[in-house]
Amino acid sequence: MNPSTYDVLIIGGGISGAALLYTLERYTDLGTLCLLEKYGAPATLNSSATSNSQTLHCGDIETNYTLQKAAKVKHTAKMVEKYCLQHGYENDIIYAHQKMALGVGYDEVNFMTKRHEEFSTLYPYLKIFDRDTLKRIEPAVLYDADGEERLEPIVGVGVQGEYTTVDFKRLSDSFVENAMQSGSKHTDVFFNQHVMKIAKRGEPTSIFSVPSVSTAISPASSTTCSKSPISATTSCETSSSKCRG
Ligand SMILES: Cc1cc2nc3c(=O)[nH]c(=O)nc-3n(C[C@H](O)[C@H](O)[C@H](O)COP(=O)(O)OP(=O)(O)OC[C@H]3O[C@@H](n4cnc5c(N)ncnc54)[C@H](O)[C@@H]3O)c2cc1C
Repeated sequence: MNPSTYDVLIIGGGISGAALLYTLERYTDLGTLCLLEKYGAPATLNSSATSNSQTLHCGDIETNYTLQKAAKVKHTAKMVEKYCLQHGYENDIIYAHQKMALGVGYDEVNFMTKRHEEFSTLYPYLKIFDRDTLKRIEPAVLYDADGEERLEPIVGVGVQGEYTTVDFKRLSDSFVENAMQSGSKHTDVFFNQHVMKIAKRGEPTSIFSVPSVSTAISPASSTTCSKSPISATTSCETSSSKCRG
């Protein structure tokens, strides 16, 4: 039977909500967890494969990061990489691709060269690509629209053979699936649940009442339930599909 209250209720099954569900399921002693998602599957919006560049930002070529910020981001990006490797998701969810940032013109070449020196302490694998190397590995960046070689100084700073690319939709799916499969807690995931309102109900045990009215239904996966999966006080007719109860 589904509880009418949960220790944690997560609204939204994009990469953030899915990662939180997995983390709470795997690494806390909370007893009951629930995720509500408006659409019929995790990560169909910003986290879908076609809505972002699928880059695992770890700070090595993000030229707007300080070294201190890069160190923090590297730590969290490595968690994603380790998770994927632990589960054997290489070339399925996580991929190793070449990536680089370019400096064009004297100022940018100086900046990138100094940055490479500084950031190599944190990322020993970081490479610097001179004009001849770029001609070989990324020839298109050396030539203008007429096919003439560009004359400005140019340098690339980047990586080869590192894990750089993540399908955040597939990663979200895996977080939800692995959280559901673990079985160490009562974990519910409800799709086609559009949360319309969040209201405080009192301290500290009953936190939220969530009258759930679905406005975005995937007909193929919808079933009818007679009351909201969450609210103890409201009862509403809603179309829903559920991973597990
Ligand atoms: C052009 C572009 C390129 C990008 N490239 C990268 C990149 O290379 N690397 C990177 O790390 N990031 C990148 N990003 C950013 C990244 O896509 C987002 O930061 C990330 O997808 C946000 O995830 P999220 O889970 O917070 O939000 P979402 O993926 O939008 O998930 C939110 C979820 O909440 C659900 N929801 C919303 N309201 C309700 C409600 N009321 N009730 C129930 N459910 C609800 C939605 O249906 C959705 O599933 C890029 C972004 C853009 C725009």
